[in-house]
Amino acid sequence: MGKARYKIKVDEATCIGCGACASECPENWELKETGEGYKGHPKASVISEEDLEKNKAAESICPVQAIKISKA
Ligand code: SF4
Repeated sequence: MGKARYKIKVDEATCIGCGACASECPENWELKETGEGYKGHPKASVISEEDLEKNKAAESICPVQAIKISKA
């Protein structure tokens, strides 16, 4: 496994709280209550290469592209 690390960001203003990320990747995604309603939230916001693929699946399935994963 590589040593690259990746940072996850959620644009909460864009997130509609649909829960698709949590369904796709329950290992690292949950819905969290905020003052603006439920928002998708990564349990870990920095991940390693081995967790990239499943988190990328959450990024891809988000219907409003609120999730961005980039190299840390
Ligand atoms: S899939 Fe996208 S819009 Fe839906 S809860 Fe997750 S981050 Fe929010």
